[in-house]
Amino acid sequence: MLDRINSRALESSKPQAFETMANQIYHSLESDIQPLEMSNSLTGVIIEVIALATSTLATTDSERKLAVWLASCDQSQFGSGMVGFDVCKLPWSKEGLEDERSFLLRAIDAAQKKLGWEKLDFEPNPAHVSERLLQLQELIAAVESDHIQKGYGGPGDHPPEGFPRCSVDGVYLHVMGCVVCNARGV
Ligand SMILES: [Zn+2]
Repeated sequence: MLDRINSRALESSKPQAFETMANQIYHSLESDIQPLEMSNSLTGVIIEVIALATSTLATTDSERKLAVWLASCDQSQFGSGMVGFDVCKLPWSKEGLEDERSFLLRAIDAAQKKLGWEKLDFEPNPAHVSERLLQLQELIAAVESDHIQKGYGGPGDHPPEGFPRCSVDGVYLHVMGCVVCNARGV
């Protein structure tokens, strides 16, 4: 247990140059915006802190959908290096895009402020997490209504009915459970 915690904390603090690039989050229609490239373990940390923040702040079903979709980028269930995505393929709605985008930007701000981090069994390195979250905000802020692309077909497109939450940490469950508990191996 301790070894695993140490290795996750260590991984999240490694400088980018030493990481093996394994997941990419990108904007397929705005090539000027730098894609976010991260090692598998740092991707896991980023997804967990976003899952905690979005789950805490979501108040509408469209916000819950976004929370579940991002939480479903769960490498423990779907494979290491298999959870990169195009920000145009999130479950945006054309009519609600502005609110949905501002919700996600707020949630990422909250993740920067460590919202829910006490639920993790390790301490992410704030500086390295922060840099990636800023890059993700830049990608999300650039999504416009004519960029929305449907039909990804991934697990996040099918949120469990009624948006159940994890009884341990409050994170919205995806089809294969809770991303935070799954990463913890429980
Ligand atoms: Zn959980």
